[in-house]
Amino acid sequence: MARYQCRACDFDGRAAWHGVLVCPRCGSTTQVRVALATEEMTAQEMHAIQTAASNMSDPDDSAEEQNH
Ligand SMILES: [Zn+2]
Repeated sequence: MARYQCRACDFDGRAAWHGVLVCPRCGSTTQVRVALATEEMTAQEMHAIQTAASNMSDPDDSAEEQNH
């Protein structure tokens, strides 16, 4: 579970966290904030976040590798 706060539709409540930052009410991805309670997170959720974080830094790493 995570707490979502959306400025697009004024949603403020808890909903399941699926690894993507999307308002559970209106579907906004730009006006929504989420607060994750790490003690409530499953290992799968933690892995999804870590994967998303590493995917953001991967392109730079692979580009550097190809230059050698
Ligand atoms: Zn919303």
